[in-house]
Amino acid sequence: MKILNNININNSLNIKSNAKYYVELRTKKDFNQFQEFISNNKLPILVVGEGTNLVLPNFYEGIVVKPIFNSINYDKNLDIVSVGSSVNWSDFVTEMVDKNIYGYENLSSIPGSVGASPIQNIGAYGQEVSRLINSIDCYDYKKGKFIKLHKDECDFTYRNSIFKNNTLIIYNINFITNCKNILNLEYESIKKYISTHNTNINNIKLKDASVMITNIRNSILPNHLKIPNVGSFFKNSIVKIDDIDTTKHSLNELITWKIDSQFVKVGSARLIDLIKDDLNKYENVNIYKNHSLVLITNSKASQEEVLNFADNIKQKVYEVFKISMDIEPTIITN
Ligand SMILES: Cc1cc2nc3c(=O)[nH]c(=O)nc-3n(C[C@H](O)[C@H](O)[C@H](O)COP(=O)(O)OP(=O)(O)OC[C@H]3O[C@@H](n4cnc5c(N)ncnc54)[C@H](O)[C@@H]3O)c2cc1C
Repeated sequence: MKILNNININNSLNIKSNAKYYVELRTKKDFNQFQEFISNNKLPILVVGEGTNLVLPNFYEGIVVKPIFNSINYDKNLDIVSVGSSVNWSDFVTEMVDKNIYGYENLSSIPGSVGASPIQNIGAYGQEVSRLINSIDCYDYKKGKFIKLHKDECDFTYRNSIFKNNTLIIYNINFITNCKNILNLEYESIKKYISTHNTNINNIKLKDASVMITNIRNSILPNHLKIPNVGSFFKNSIVKIDDIDTTKHSLNELITWKIDSQFVKVGSARLIDLIKDDLNKYENVNIYKNHSLVLITNSKASQEEVLNFADNIKQKVYEVFKISMDIEPTIITN
């Protein structure tokens, strides 16, 4: 097990952030050593993947843990593929598509690691990772033991799971490989892409669907390696239709998805679009021009500045619509 001091934590907002300790775990044996280290150093612990969904403080007064497990193993009899937590999610999806395994294609090109995918139950274009997981292998550093959680024990919901604010380190995930060979092309932006590209829907193959999703994403989302961001900064809120304030903007101006006769999910991007001209100006953080849900930095922003800007957006949205928006990425505090 490797322990380093005062190490910079990679993160896609490019916030300059150092950790008191940084530990890499590469084998199951390392977890025993890690247990000993944390019992001698009573400090907060943060597990990291690729840092594409973190809003970090300038200094993390604790132990940053990075599990590095890279293997991919297929069990054809059980229709399972076991994937190490540090495998890049997008590379894994490409491998599934290349092997003609369905179910993963709509999650193409989501940044980050396989190990982080269940934390907020990553999702896009009508698919969620929870539908593809069979079970998850973790180490619980509070109990000091290895556990396997079946997907039904993970409490998966929209952008949430049992893994948030928990003491579990995920080192391996067992995914299913026997989804039905059917593409899900129902999402509005996919339909639009198909019609504007004059594509015959009957000719779309698995690989085409994956390329299409990547093209749609590239047209609206900034590449975090060039323009620092963490993807969507706010979740879509589920609210009672009657509670939405329509004094300034009618319901028709919003994007809503019906939940039941009383509740709707409201698209946060549109809400932000409608108030963005009234926001304060910040030096190092802004809204991305092609997608109002994405906050971008110029690599000079601090956590405080990013969160102040996010607060300003939340307050304005609440003032106008009486809708509270929750922040999507993980905010790390000491
Ligand atoms: C441009 C862009 C687009 C994005 N698009 C989407 C999208 O379409 N859909 C979507 O859902 N998300 C999206 N995201 C968010 C991000 O890609 C996901 O949340 C991703 O799963 C984060 O992976 P990571 O390895 O970078 O995790 P990190 O940012 O390192 O960590 C995220 C959280 O997971 C925890 N964690 C990480 N690894 C482990 C582990 N092995 N064990 C236990 N806990 C762990 C961390 O403690 C933290 O709470 C986007 C981000 C960007 C930058």
